Amino acid sequence: MEEKGTISIHTENIFPIIKKFLYSDNEIFLRELVSNAVDAVQKIKRLAALGQYSGELGNPLVEVALDKEKKTITISDNGLGMTAEEIKKYINQVAFSGASEFVEKFKDAKDANEIIGKFGLGFYSAFMVSDLVEIQTLSYQEGAEPARWVCDGSTTFEITEGSRTTRGTDIILHVNAESEEFLETFKLEGILDKYGKFLPVPIKFGTKTEQEPDGEDEEGKPKSKSVETDNIINTTNPIWTKAPADLSDEDYLAFYKQLYPFSEDPLFWIHLNVDYPFNLTGVLYFPKLKNDFEMQRNKIRLFSRQVFITDEVKDIVPEFLMLLHGVIDSPDIPLNVSRSFLQADSNVKKINSYITKKVADKLQELYNKDRKAYEEKWTDIGLFVKYGMVSEEKFNDKAKDFALLTNTKNEHYTLEEYHDKVKDFQLDKNGQVVYIYSNDPAKQDSFIQSANKLEYDVLLMNSPIDNHFVQHLEQKLEKTALKRVDSSVASKLIDKDDQVESVLTEDQSKKVKEVFEKAISKPGYTVEIVGLNPEELPVTITMDEFMRRMKDMAQMGGGMGFYGNMPDSYKVAINGNHKLVAKILSAGDEDTQAKLARQAVDLALLAQGMLTGAELTAFVSRSVELI
Ligand code: ADP
Ligand code: MG
Repeated sequence: MEEKGTISIHTENIFPIIKKFLYSDNEIFLRELVSNAVDAVQKIKRLAALGQYSGELGNPLVEVALDKEKKTITISDNGLGMTAEEIKKYINQVAFSGASEFVEKFKDAKDANEIIGKFGLGFYSAFMVSDLVEIQTLSYQEGAEPARWVCDGSTTFEITEGSRTTRGTDIILHVNAESEEFLETFKLEGILDKYGKFLPVPIKFGTKTEQEPDGEDEEGKPKSKSVETDNIINTTNPIWTKAPADLSDEDYLAFYKQLYPFSEDPLFWIHLNVDYPFNLTGVLYFPKLKNDFEMQRNKIRLFSRQVFITDEVKDIVPEFLMLLHGVIDSPDIPLNVSRSFLQADSNVKKINSYITKKVADKLQELYNKDRKAYEEKWTDIGLFVKYGMVSEEKFNDKAKDFALLTNTKNEHYTLEEYHDKVKDFQLDKNGQVVYIYSNDPAKQDSFIQSANKLEYDVLLMNSPIDNHFVQHLEQKLEKTALKRVDSSVASKLIDKDDQVESVLTEDQSKKVKEVFEKAISKPGYTVEIVGLNPEELPVTITMDEFMRRMKDMAQMGGGMGFYGNMPDSYKVAINGNHKLVAKILSAGDEDTQAKLARQAVDLALLAQGMLTGAELTAFVSRSVELI
């Protein structure tokens, strides 16, 4: 048996093109060849199961072997093998409709995956790293003869009698001079670990030495001996291929540790399992988030039939869930997936909304099952939920039933519960319910206490997403306004009809205003005399809610550049009914008046952490003087 021929791809130049354009990503040759080998092993198993093969199956195994001297990498399997006819059919007639189309399109291709995927060139990726590729194979079919195929990367090939004596295939790569890096053990190990860690058939790469018990020595101590065993690089049954009912929490946690050895235990997880209208399995974990979000993104790994594809799952997983960890496996996503494929594929869009729904259902279930446990995890979960509500309408519709609001007393309420809690007492004269919140409870403590004294509830909105969440709530909730606790004096946070009047006459007000304006003498501060309860603070410094939000947005790059450039401006509210004001009025000399006013202003600044530097030093020495 000897045959020479031409690979029918209608173009002379295909291999140089493949080599040149796939060069950047050339490590995927190993992924392609190992997954072909795995396929071959699984096919023979299936044939046996269907009764179409009755011979010995043997232990399924794929082996990758390195020969540094001969400069070869060999990928062997005991799969179904190929006859010479099959080689011609599957290998020679490169499976794409038109080589001219390929040549036309390769110029615009962005990555190797795109080309390989589009034109079914999995096997041919071998030429990215080889001068010569050899196949030695023996088919499972009765009476099959071993066959050998050799090709040097030109369009001519040779088929001769082969030398394999057992069923299966060896793919022998004669590594080219530019690719000698792949002749290093650690390099191949790295690639196998990346793509093959969870392949469904054992993958052997060399051997390893292990210590085994070997009786006892003269003193009765246990002895051990070194034994050489196969170095199997993969776990063939990762947990996502099993049924949830067969798995314990420990299994899920152990798998998490295997994926992310340096991470804290996750909060909870979701086992995905669909077969219609697309196939998808996987386990998604909710991690305990650290402050550095960027570091924690892009941790989800995408597999196709247990072959690792990528950890760029941007288009499959909704943006707001990119902080989840775990694995997704879908045979509907081709091995050689490319960015543009993901964006265009309708299955991918379905996967996206399926995951959104699953996550929402899981959260609802956790909430229903054990509200207390759910509340305890809320600080961590809340970030995802709020981000999801802000960014995905569909998720918002579901999440509004299990999203929680937390107040400064660390009590949790659903949106509905909270509305019921405050709707009567925190109602302003225009019929708007006012939610009061703090984004920095330590700094705003004096404001929170003043609000609490008036029996107002104060919500905690101090997570990184809360700036957006506040706006979101205001848009979604009817007749509801949100005000930051330090946006005005407590009694004016909610504009009710029962305002206290100032006891001061017009002249007195004018005088007090002058004294304070002189005492402050800084740009950006506007003094105002207001009638408040005598028990409230004498001086309160606030920043208008609207102005502050605009500035916050400008800072986050929200396009409010105009506001961003405005100087900070504050309102200084003087409580006309406080006894300090009476004291200032009755003080004879201007010097004492100024000192008292300055001291009261500094106290207000101090309460808000706004008193620093030279002003703080001056305040301290003035205070010492006053004692
Ligand atoms: P794909 O895997 O997408 O079909 P490839 O180019 O990777 O495309 O492989 C082409 C075909 O060659 C396979 O479909 C299979 O029929 C055959 N083949 C490749 N490698 C092997 C192998 N190790 N054992 C048996 N058949 C193989
Ligand atoms: Mg393939």
